Amino acid sequence: MDIALVGIGKIALDQHVPSLESSADWELAATVSRHGTVDGVPAYDDFDKMLEENPGIRVVSLCLPPVPRFDYAAKALKAGRHVMLEKPPGATMAECAALEALAREKGVSLFATWHSREADKVDAARDWLADKTLKSLTVTWKEDVRRWHPGQDWIFAPGGLGVFDPGINALSIVTKILPDAVHLTDAVLSVPENRQAPIAAELSFYHPGGAEVSCTFDFRQEGEQIWTIEAVCEEGTLLLTHGGGQMYLDGVAQGETETGLAGEYPRLYAAMAKLVRTGGIDMDLSPMRHVADAFLLGRRDLVEPFEF
Ligand code: NAP
Repeated sequence: MDIALVGIGKIALDQHVPSLESSADWELAATVSRHGTVDGVPAYDDFDKMLEENPGIRVVSLCLPPVPRFDYAAKALKAGRHVMLEKPPGATMAECAALEALAREKGVSLFATWHSREADKVDAARDWLADKTLKSLTVTWKEDVRRWHPGQDWIFAPGGLGVFDPGINALSIVTKILPDAVHLTDAVLSVPENRQAPIAAELSFYHPGGAEVSCTFDFRQEGEQIWTIEAVCEEGTLLLTHGGGQMYLDGVAQGETETGLAGEYPRLYAAMAKLVRTGGIDMDLSPMRHVADAFLLGRRDLVEPFEF
């Protein structure tokens, strides 16, 4: 299937383009970006023009930051195209619901992707936890924003999510692997005094079985980068490291370690191909609901200014 890629920035070039190039399902047929291009692929800087001139491109993948994404998604859906959304699927819950309603009205596929859910050991973690009794779940997601998002001021602007940009990846795993739904009870958001979005956050959740569920997110981590989820159960302890790329049961590694995002995006594009073939919609907003709740309920602590 021909596909157009919109927003040729960091994640498009790091992951989307290589995943499309190595897939038998997809042909990258056009790009839309004000500055970015991909060698050998017809490039547009006007989205309307690309849609108009390419009726054969039935699928559009949007790699823009969340705030500008709605307008592009709505235009594509109105033009009868199937749409794949980078995470988070939008800037607000309501605009995501509006996109889903539009997709249903138009009878096209819409996919809110959560790339971390495709990390190598996430399914195995979900399967192991399915019949266990959880005592505690501790998420530690600490990375260096300067290293992973160099110069991306949008991330600290309204709608950019700040540390929840990576934190929502952890929440996408938690909402996939836990058999029971949790909900936020308490949050502390550390917001640099010159920015609009938090650079760190501490979250606590209610768990129906009484387990202690908490997250620590921090964008100021230098040195070792940490993306771990530890689940202590009555029957043993599960540890996910490398953002879901490795799993330990009672300290014993389960299979090889997969690092980085390399396996995640090919799996997302395979899932999109299946959705399009079956006419499906996948708009699970549960990770984003927890982030929205943190912004609703969280206490704000002002911290020192941040510059890239
Ligand atoms: P980015 O490089 O800053 O932005 C992607 C592209 O979007 C830019 O190159 C820009 O292309 C376009 N864009 C930016 N602002 C725009 C605006 N206001 N209107 C129209 N186009 C605009 O960001 P990114 O790191 O690729 O992240 C994009 C999305 O992918 C985010 O939602 C992020 O959470 C997600 N993501 C990122 C990573 C990562 O490691 N960076 C990993 C996984 C997921 P032009 O200027 O050429 O138009």
